[in-house]
Amino acid sequence: MLIDGKLVQGEGQREAILDPSTGTRIAEVREASPEQVDQAVAAAKKAFPLWSQMTPGARSALLLKIADKIEQQGTDFARVESLNVGKPYVRMLNDEIPGIVDNIRFFAGAARCMTGLAAGEYVPGHTSVIRRDPLGVIGSIAPWNFPLAMATWKIFAPIVVGNTVVMKPSEQTPLTALKLGSLLAQMLPAGVVNIVTGQGASVGAQLCGHPGVAMTSITGDIATGQKVLQAATGNLKRTHLELGGKAPVIVMDDADLDAAVASVRSAGFYNAGQDCCAACRVYVHEKVYDKFVAALHGAVKTIRLGSPADEDTELGPLVSARQRDRVAGFVERAADLTHVELLTGGRSPERPGFFYEPTILAGARHDDEIVQREVFGPVVSVTPFKTMEQVLEWANDSRYGLASSVWTRDVKTAGHLSARLQYGTTWVNQHFTLISEMPHGGMKMSGYGKDQSIFSLEDYTAIRHVMMNFG
Ligand code: NAD
Repeated sequence: MLIDGKLVQGEGQREAILDPSTGTRIAEVREASPEQVDQAVAAAKKAFPLWSQMTPGARSALLLKIADKIEQQGTDFARVESLNVGKPYVRMLNDEIPGIVDNIRFFAGAARCMTGLAAGEYVPGHTSVIRRDPLGVIGSIAPWNFPLAMATWKIFAPIVVGNTVVMKPSEQTPLTALKLGSLLAQMLPAGVVNIVTGQGASVGAQLCGHPGVAMTSITGDIATGQKVLQAATGNLKRTHLELGGKAPVIVMDDADLDAAVASVRSAGFYNAGQDCCAACRVYVHEKVYDKFVAALHGAVKTIRLGSPADEDTELGPLVSARQRDRVAGFVERAADLTHVELLTGGRSPERPGFFYEPTILAGARHDDEIVQREVFGPVVSVTPFKTMEQVLEWANDSRYGLASSVWTRDVKTAGHLSARLQYGTTWVNQHFTLISEMPHGGMKMSGYGKDQSIFSLEDYTAIRHVMMNFG
């Protein structure tokens, strides 16, 4: 772990780290003891005054050097992440690493040009200035599906605007965060970033309730977000919640069906569907439903499941046996319904590791569990609809509100639907592309924290008014 600039061994219980593609143990990581969590928070507090007073330009220069290092070590980071999470190595190297590097570079630039209200004399002789100042120590907690990318979002946006951080990766996937920690130990002043490992219920909960932490930032499950909120009441911490999703994909009868099918094949199964924006809840106009389902069936059958190390693998294993069994449970319950047809998949292949075949459940109804609940696996449901008003009502009738997409050639339909969808992101004729300049975050129970973009920097700063009497 990284505490106060030093790499230290955890003093708590041991956690076995597995390779999901074989189920074998690849490492053992000890969790932080309560005393070590206290030390990490104390180190972050001690580092805050100096770090927060550095100029944005000076902090930015450090971030740019860190981005260069991650880029140079991209193959090592990709190998470790692929081994720990089961992601196809090539996808990690070619999709995620460039995104991570770009994200750090974006924040390095954005922090130097924050905007706001004009200063002015709203009382004669008094000049009012709006400041955006850092909050203090941020407790950052990341999930297992994109461990390095989430660590990046949760570390660099807070620190570039002057906060200091204690970050906890998921207990299942801590390896790239620890590798990042060893880099940061050499590149940042002691205490600016601290990385502690451990379970959510112990280390995570201690951080969330810690009186020395000013804000908790978490990406995770809705139930975890609720616990984080409860733990925040002690010192009225700010919270930044990025929770689950169940993205509706609305395919109208005038849509480019080939493009929609290709997008669901990719965005529904990327990262084995363990993605909060996964294109997993597809609604198709009844006029083109049969055609769409047949084309999707053909496309999904060609998805190449295999070892994450193989260059042509598209679908690796799920992160754990528990996650695979959870996914299998959702599929079995859905396939038992007489109106649902299991078109393909629905089982684990005969091989070691936590694999699950790409699965399509056609004919699902809007009220079915498979349409309502986040599965977080390589499973897509398809539901026919009759009218735009009906599909809009169904799409919005969800406790989730993270991402959505609309497929149509009619600009009026695109405008009508995208204005009414209650989702943090709506893509039109596209699904899944995230960019550093634009916010990623939810509505409703998907939470309200924005990652990426200038809005993230706003989340990690407090608005202050300074009035100067020049009279
Ligand atoms: P999780 O909520 O189980 O765990 C997330 C993190 O929270 C882990 O580090 C865990 O140790 C920690 N945690 C658990 N209980 C805690 C507690 N009581 N106090 C403090 N920390 C605690 O989620 P997961 O299973 O790791 O990840 C999958 C979930 O994350 C899915 O619901 C997914 O949709 C969501 N997710 C959301 C986004 C987004 O941007 N909105 C991105 C990725 C994943």
